[in-house]
Amino acid sequence: MRCKECDGMLFVIRVEEVPKGKNYISYNRLCDVECISCKKVYYSQPYDSGRGLNEVRDISQKKESKFENND
Ligand SMILES: [Zn+2]
Repeated sequence: MRCKECDGMLFVIRVEEVPKGKNYISYNRLCDVECISCKKVYYSQPYDSGRGLNEVRDISQKKESKFENND
């Protein structure tokens, strides 16, 4: 993830806590990130989505359907 203003590196300054009663594994937390270069802060960015188990599962599903189409 890069800064939209200056293309600088962003680093996470705060991560949302998983609410009580939510599944910690599947809950997609939000985070605030700040640009190292220009100090612009982006609030409520996705922190968990696109990472971990869901990403792996999506890729394998696409491969499987591709093979089926080729046959
Ligand atoms: Zn920046």
